[in-house]
Amino acid sequence: MCGESMKLAPVAQVNRIAGTTQTSARHVLEWQCPDCDYFEEAEGQLTDLSPELEAWLSDQG
Ligand SMILES: [Zn+2]
Repeated sequence: MCGESMKLAPVAQVNRIAGTTQTSARHVLEWQCPDCDYFEEAEGQLTDLSPELEAWLSDQG
């Protein structure tokens, strides 16, 4: 069971804008397992975020 050791990590999801050569980056947080490749996007209201992660999330683009 990986869930107990999951770590919250900032990830920039880069998406191609359809019909163009432009990309957009979406800043999200992911739960990542340090022991394997498992990860999942953190959803819902997250509490006790560090100021660094709060700043990362608010810095869209
Ligand atoms: Zn794992």
